[in-house]
Amino acid sequence: MRVLLVDDSVTMRRIQKTQINSLGITDVIEAGDGEEAYRKLNENMPIDLILLDWNMPVMDGITLLRKVRTENKFQAVKIIMCTSESEKSKVVDALKSGANNYLVKPFTPEALKEKLGI
Ligand SMILES: [Mg+2]
Repeated sequence: MRVLLVDDSVTMRRIQKTQINSLGITDVIEAGDGEEAYRKLNENMPIDLILLDWNMPVMDGITLLRKVRTENKFQAVKIIMCTSESEKSKVVDALKSGANNYLVKPFTPEALKEKLGI
């Protein structure tokens, strides 16, 4: 499984990457904003899963989500929005925009496993 981990916080990416790795998923590509993520998505297909932060500079998570969902070639890519506790109310918006699920950060390996159904 190849994962695109998108977050503008290097520290958060490091924490989340460790959690992902602990599930035995080692193919993890990182991006620091939506624009970089979009470029890396195009360059590294097939990507199975995007773990997507909400608030980021240049292009935020919801904008990237909507952009990706307009393109057929990314149809099979699962997108999980990663929100802070205070952003939970925005999750409905994300699900309506085509997100498959959401996780509250920092997520545990168990929570990720559950949302992935693995
Ligand atoms: Mg952020």
